[in-house]
Amino acid sequence: MTVPTLTLNDGKSIPQLGFGVFKVDPAETERIVLDALEAGYRHIDTAAIYGNEEGVGAAFAKSGVSRDELFITTKLWNDRRGAEDTRKALGESLEKLGLDHVDLYLIHWPTPASDKVIETWETFGEFREQGLATSIGVSNFDHRYLPAILETGIVPAVDQIELHPQFQQVESLDLLAQNDIKIEAWGPLGQGKVDYANTVIGEIAQSVEKSWAQVVIRWHLQKGHILFPKTNRKERMVENKNVFDFELSAEQMAAIDALEAGARVSADPAEVN
Ligand code: NDP
Repeated sequence: MTVPTLTLNDGKSIPQLGFGVFKVDPAETERIVLDALEAGYRHIDTAAIYGNEEGVGAAFAKSGVSRDELFITTKLWNDRRGAEDTRKALGESLEKLGLDHVDLYLIHWPTPASDKVIETWETFGEFREQGLATSIGVSNFDHRYLPAILETGIVPAVDQIELHPQFQQVESLDLLAQNDIKIEAWGPLGQGKVDYANTVIGEIAQSVEKSWAQVVIRWHLQKGHILFPKTNRKERMVENKNVFDFELSAEQMAAIDALEAGARVSADPAEVN
Protein backbone atom coordinates (compact mmCIF):
# COMPACT_ATOMS: atom_id res chain seq x y z
CA MET A 1 0.00 0.00 0.00
CA THR A 2 1.12 3.56 -0.67
CA VAL A 3 2.81 5.39 2.16
CA PRO A 4 0.98 8.65 3.00
CA THR A 5 2.81 11.96 2.72
CA LEU A 6 2.65 14.86 5.16
CA THR A 7 3.04 18.54 4.26
CA LEU A 8 5.82 20.35 6.10
CA ASN A 9 5.62 24.01 7.23
CA ASP A 10 7.68 24.99 4.16
CA GLY A 11 5.06 23.49 1.82
CA LYS A 12 7.14 20.45 0.85
CA SER A 13 5.86 16.92 1.26
CA ILE A 14 7.52 14.02 3.03
CA PRO A 15 6.66 10.29 3.06
CA GLN A 16 5.47 9.64 6.62
CA LEU A 17 7.14 6.21 6.81
CA GLY A 18 10.72 5.67 5.72
CA PHE A 19 13.78 3.56 6.41
CA GLY A 20 16.63 4.47 8.78
CA VAL A 21 20.21 3.28 8.49
CA PHE A 22 21.76 4.00 11.91
CA LYS A 23 24.12 1.08 12.73
CA VAL A 24 23.75 -0.38 9.25
CA ASP A 25 27.25 -1.64 8.44
CA PRO A 26 28.77 0.51 5.66
CA ALA A 27 29.88 -2.67 3.88
CA GLU A 28 26.27 -3.90 3.78
CA THR A 29 24.47 -0.62 3.27
CA GLU A 30 24.14 -0.79 -0.49
CA ARG A 31 22.43 -4.20 -0.34
CA ILE A 32 20.23 -3.28 2.60
CA VAL A 33 19.07 0.01 1.07
CA LEU A 34 18.44 -1.75 -2.25
CA ASP A 35 16.27 -4.25 -0.32
CA ALA A 36 14.43 -1.34 1.33
CA LEU A 37 13.83 0.36 -2.03
CA GLU A 38 12.58 -2.93 -3.43
CA ALA A 39 10.24 -3.26 -0.44
CA GLY A 40 8.80 0.10 -1.50
CA TYR A 41 10.51 2.55 0.86
CA ARG A 42 11.32 5.88 -0.79
CA HIS A 43 12.35 7.92 2.26
CA ILE A 44 15.83 7.09 3.61
CA ASP A 45 17.31 8.63 6.76
CA THR A 46 21.10 8.62 7.09
CA ALA A 47 23.75 10.86 8.70
CA ALA A 48 27.39 11.73 8.12
CA ILE A 49 28.36 9.99 11.38
CA TYR A 50 26.77 6.69 10.30
CA GLY A 51 29.62 6.31 7.80
CA ASN A 52 27.29 4.80 5.23
CA GLU A 53 26.28 7.71 2.99
CA GLU A 54 28.34 6.19 0.15
CA GLY A 55 26.46 2.90 0.41
CA VAL A 56 23.15 4.75 0.43
CA GLY A 57 24.22 6.68 -2.69
CA ALA A 58 25.40 3.50 -4.42
CA ALA A 59 22.01 1.90 -3.78
CA PHE A 60 20.17 4.88 -5.33
CA ALA A 61 22.42 4.76 -8.37
CA LYS A 62 21.80 1.03 -8.87
CA SER A 63 18.10 1.05 -8.07
CA GLY A 64 16.85 2.92 -11.12
CA VAL A 65 14.38 4.78 -8.89
CA SER A 66 14.05 8.34 -10.16
CA ARG A 67 15.42 11.13 -7.99
CA ASP A 68 12.08 12.90 -7.65
CA GLU A 69 10.57 9.77 -6.09
CA LEU A 70 13.23 9.66 -3.38
CA PHE A 71 13.27 11.59 -0.11
CA ILE A 72 16.78 11.67 1.33
CA THR A 73 17.78 13.01 4.72
CA THR A 74 21.28 13.39 6.06
CA LYS A 75 22.70 15.16 9.11
CA LEU A 76 25.58 17.41 10.09
CA TRP A 77 27.79 15.83 12.76
CA ASN A 78 28.72 17.54 16.02
CA ASP A 79 32.34 18.27 15.15
CA ARG A 80 31.28 20.44 12.19
CA ARG A 81 30.17 23.92 13.22
CA GLY A 82 30.27 27.47 11.82
CA ALA A 83 29.41 28.70 8.31
CA GLU A 84 32.50 27.61 6.43
CA ASP A 85 32.86 24.14 7.95
CA THR A 86 29.13 23.49 7.63
CA ARG A 87 29.24 24.30 3.89
CA LYS A 88 32.17 21.95 3.52
CA ALA A 89 30.40 19.18 5.44
CA LEU A 90 27.26 19.38 3.30
CA GLY A 91 29.44 19.27 0.18
CA GLU A 92 31.11 16.09 1.47
CA SER A 93 27.78 14.44 2.23
CA LEU A 94 26.36 15.32 -1.20
CA GLU A 95 29.43 13.90 -2.87
CA LYS A 96 29.18 10.63 -0.93
CA LEU A 97 25.48 10.37 -1.66
CA GLY A 98 26.05 11.20 -5.33
CA LEU A 99 23.38 13.93 -5.18
CA ASP A 100 23.20 17.63 -5.97
CA HIS A 101 20.75 18.28 -3.12
CA VAL A 102 19.21 16.51 -0.16
CA ASP A 103 15.52 16.65 0.61
CA LEU A 104 16.17 17.31 4.28
CA TYR A 105 19.32 18.36 6.14
CA LEU A 106 19.43 18.28 9.93
CA ILE A 107 21.74 19.54 12.66
CA HIS A 108 22.23 16.19 14.38
CA TRP A 109 22.52 17.34 18.04
CA PRO A 110 22.24 20.74 19.78
CA THR A 111 25.79 20.46 21.26
CA PRO A 112 25.24 22.96 24.09
CA ALA A 113 29.02 23.36 24.57
CA SER A 114 29.40 24.95 21.11
CA ASP A 115 28.91 28.70 20.61
CA LYS A 116 28.48 28.25 16.85
CA VAL A 117 25.13 26.51 16.68
CA ILE A 118 23.17 29.62 15.66
CA GLU A 119 25.70 30.50 12.95
CA THR A 120 25.40 26.90 11.76
CA TRP A 121 21.61 27.12 11.67
CA GLU A 122 21.72 30.38 9.72
CA THR A 123 23.95 28.61 7.20
CA PHE A 124 21.25 25.93 6.91
CA GLY A 125 18.88 28.79 5.99
CA GLU A 126 21.22 29.61 3.08
CA PHE A 127 21.24 25.96 1.98
CA ARG A 128 17.47 26.08 1.70
CA GLU A 129 17.58 29.30 -0.34
CA GLN A 130 20.23 27.81 -2.62
CA GLY A 131 18.30 24.54 -3.10
CA LEU A 132 21.14 22.44 -1.68
CA ALA A 133 18.67 21.24 0.95
CA THR A 134 15.02 21.41 -0.03
CA SER A 135 13.97 21.41 3.64
CA ILE A 136 15.98 22.00 6.79
CA GLY A 137 15.50 20.92 10.36
CA VAL A 138 17.07 19.97 13.64
CA SER A 139 17.49 16.79 15.64
CA ASN A 140 17.53 16.28 19.39
CA PHE A 141 16.58 19.94 19.98
CA ASP A 142 13.99 19.49 22.71
CA HIS A 143 12.18 22.24 24.65
CA ARG A 144 15.53 23.33 26.13
CA TYR A 145 17.24 23.97 22.78
CA LEU A 146 14.47 24.82 20.32
CA PRO A 147 13.76 28.38 21.58
CA ALA A 148 17.22 29.67 20.55
CA ILE A 149 16.72 28.23 17.06
CA LEU A 150 13.28 29.83 16.75
CA GLU A 151 14.70 33.23 17.73
CA THR A 152 16.58 33.30 14.40
CA GLY A 153 13.24 33.46 12.57
CA ILE A 154 14.23 30.39 10.54
CA VAL A 155 11.72 27.74 11.54
CA PRO A 156 12.81 24.10 11.23
CA ALA A 157 10.49 21.92 9.16
CA VAL A 158 11.07 18.96 11.48
CA ASP A 159 12.62 18.04 14.80
CA GLN A 160 13.98 14.49 14.86
CA ILE A 161 13.87 13.32 18.49
CA GLU A 162 13.91 10.07 20.45
CA LEU A 163 10.26 9.13 20.74
CA HIS A 164 8.48 5.84 21.49
CA PRO A 165 5.69 4.80 23.85
CA GLN A 166 7.69 4.97 27.08
CA PHE A 167 9.37 8.27 26.11
CA GLN A 168 6.94 10.62 24.42
CA GLN A 169 8.77 13.97 24.79
CA VAL A 170 5.76 15.47 26.58
CA GLU A 171 7.63 18.66 27.56
CA SER A 172 8.39 19.56 23.93
CA LEU A 173 5.06 18.77 22.27
CA ASP A 174 3.37 22.17 22.72
CA LEU A 175 6.33 24.12 21.36
CA LEU A 176 6.56 21.86 18.33
CA ALA A 177 2.82 22.09 17.62
CA GLN A 178 2.73 25.89 18.07
CA ASN A 179 5.41 26.24 15.40
CA ASP A 180 3.98 23.55 13.10
CA ILE A 181 7.25 21.61 13.33
CA LYS A 182 6.69 17.98 12.43
CA ILE A 183 8.02 15.33 14.77
CA GLU A 184 10.35 12.73 13.36
CA ALA A 185 10.47 9.92 15.92
CA TRP A 186 13.86 8.27 16.12
CA GLY A 187 14.22 4.95 17.90
CA PRO A 188 10.52 4.52 17.12
CA LEU A 189 10.62 0.87 18.28
CA GLY A 190 12.68 1.75 21.35
CA GLN A 191 15.79 0.63 19.42
CA GLY A 192 14.87 -2.96 20.28
CA LYS A 193 15.89 -2.24 23.91
CA VAL A 194 12.35 -2.18 25.37
CA ASP A 195 10.23 -5.31 25.73
CA TYR A 196 7.12 -3.72 24.22
CA ALA A 197 5.75 -7.17 23.31
CA ASN A 198 5.16 -7.80 27.01
CA THR A 199 3.16 -4.63 27.62
CA VAL A 200 -0.39 -3.75 26.59
CA ILE A 201 1.08 -3.47 23.08
CA GLY A 202 1.40 -7.28 22.97
CA GLU A 203 -2.26 -7.67 23.89
CA ILE A 204 -3.35 -5.15 21.28
CA ALA A 205 -1.15 -6.90 18.71
CA GLN A 206 -2.97 -10.18 19.38
CA SER A 207 -6.38 -8.60 19.07
CA VAL A 208 -5.61 -6.86 15.76
CA GLU A 209 -3.55 -9.83 14.47
CA LYS A 210 -0.43 -7.77 13.89
CA SER A 211 3.06 -7.86 15.43
CA TRP A 212 4.01 -5.65 18.38
CA ALA A 213 6.27 -3.64 16.03
CA GLN A 214 3.41 -3.04 13.58
CA VAL A 215 1.22 -1.82 16.45
CA VAL A 216 3.92 0.61 17.62
CA ILE A 217 4.44 1.88 14.05
CA ARG A 218 0.69 2.32 13.64
CA TRP A 219 0.54 4.28 16.94
CA HIS A 220 3.23 6.67 15.61
CA LEU A 221 1.43 7.11 12.29
CA GLN A 222 -1.89 7.90 13.98
CA LYS A 223 -0.07 10.40 16.24
CA GLY A 224 1.13 12.19 13.09
CA HIS A 225 4.80 11.30 13.59
CA ILE A 226 7.20 10.73 10.73
CA LEU A 227 9.27 7.57 11.34
CA PHE A 228 11.84 5.34 9.71
CA PRO A 229 12.37 2.10 11.64
CA LYS A 230 15.67 0.39 10.97
CA THR A 231 16.10 -3.28 10.22
CA ASN A 232 18.72 -5.34 8.44
CA ARG A 233 16.17 -7.99 7.58
CA LYS A 234 14.12 -7.93 4.43
CA GLU A 235 11.12 -9.69 6.01
CA ARG A 236 10.98 -7.00 8.70
CA MET A 237 11.20 -4.26 6.06
CA VAL A 238 8.02 -5.71 4.57
CA GLU A 239 6.42 -6.22 8.00
CA ASN A 240 7.15 -2.65 9.13
CA LYS A 241 5.53 -1.25 6.00
CA ASN A 242 2.49 -3.49 6.20
CA VAL A 243 0.64 -1.15 8.55
CA PHE A 244 -1.91 0.58 6.34
CA ASP A 245 -4.65 -2.04 6.44
CA PHE A 246 -5.71 -1.61 10.08
CA GLU A 247 -6.42 1.16 12.55
CA LEU A 248 -6.02 1.42 16.31
CA SER A 249 -9.13 2.53 18.17
CA ALA A 250 -9.15 5.60 20.43
CA GLU A 251 -9.04 3.21 23.43
CA GLN A 252 -6.05 1.31 22.04
CA MET A 253 -4.24 4.59 21.31
CA ALA A 254 -4.94 5.79 24.86
CA ALA A 255 -3.66 2.51 26.34
CA ILE A 256 -0.36 2.97 24.49
CA ASP A 257 -0.21 6.67 25.45
CA ALA A 258 -0.41 5.51 29.07
CA LEU A 259 2.96 3.73 28.75
CA GLU A 260 4.70 7.14 28.94
CA ALA A 261 7.35 6.87 31.67
CA GLY A 262 9.85 9.58 30.75
CA ALA A 263 12.30 6.74 30.06
CA ARG A 264 14.90 7.34 27.36
CA VAL A 265 16.80 4.45 25.85
CA SER A 266 19.59 6.67 24.54
CA ALA A 267 21.56 9.82 25.30
CA ASP A 268 20.27 13.05 26.83
CA PRO A 269 21.03 15.91 24.39
CA ALA A 270 22.42 17.92 27.32
CA GLU A 271 25.29 15.44 27.50
CA VAL A 272 26.17 15.14 23.80
CA ASN A 273 28.80 17.52 22.49
P1 NDP B 1 14.50 1.51 15.97
O1 NDP B 1 13.56 1.89 17.05
O2 NDP B 1 14.11 1.65 14.55
O3 NDP B 1 14.88 0.00 16.29
C1 NDP B 1 15.76 -0.74 15.51
C2 NDP B 1 15.88 -2.11 16.16
O4 NDP B 1 14.61 -2.77 16.11
C3 NDP B 1 16.87 -3.01 15.49
O5 NDP B 1 17.53 -3.72 16.52
C4 NDP B 1 16.02 -3.96 14.65
O6 NDP B 1 16.66 -5.20 14.58
C5 NDP B 1 14.75 -4.03 15.46
N1 NDP B 1 13.54 -4.21 14.63
C6 NDP B 1 13.19 -3.56 13.50
N2 NDP B 1 12.02 -3.98 13.02
C7 NDP B 1 11.57 -4.94 13.88
C8 NDP B 1 10.43 -5.77 13.91
N3 NDP B 1 9.49 -5.69 12.99
N4 NDP B 1 10.31 -6.65 14.97
C9 NDP B 1 11.26 -6.72 15.91
N5 NDP B 1 12.37 -5.96 15.92
C10 NDP B 1 12.53 -5.08 14.91
O7 NDP B 1 15.88 2.25 16.28
P2 NDP B 1 16.87 3.17 15.47
O8 NDP B 1 17.79 3.76 16.46
O9 NDP B 1 17.49 2.48 14.33
O10 NDP B 1 15.94 4.36 14.93
C11 NDP B 1 15.44 4.43 13.59
C12 NDP B 1 16.19 5.46 12.79
O11 NDP B 1 16.16 6.73 13.44
C13 NDP B 1 17.70 5.19 12.67
O12 NDP B 1 18.01 4.14 11.78
C14 NDP B 1 18.21 6.53 12.25
O13 NDP B 1 17.91 6.77 10.88
C15 NDP B 1 17.36 7.44 13.15
N6 NDP B 1 18.06 7.78 14.40
C16 NDP B 1 18.39 9.10 14.63
C17 NDP B 1 19.03 9.51 15.75
C18 NDP B 1 19.34 10.94 15.95
O14 NDP B 1 20.07 11.28 16.89
N7 NDP B 1 18.83 11.83 15.14
C19 NDP B 1 19.44 8.54 16.79
C20 NDP B 1 19.04 7.19 16.50
C21 NDP B 1 18.37 6.84 15.35
P3 NDP B 1 17.11 -5.90 13.16
O15 NDP B 1 17.94 -4.91 12.41
O16 NDP B 1 17.88 -7.11 13.60
O17 NDP B 1 15.83 -6.25 12.47
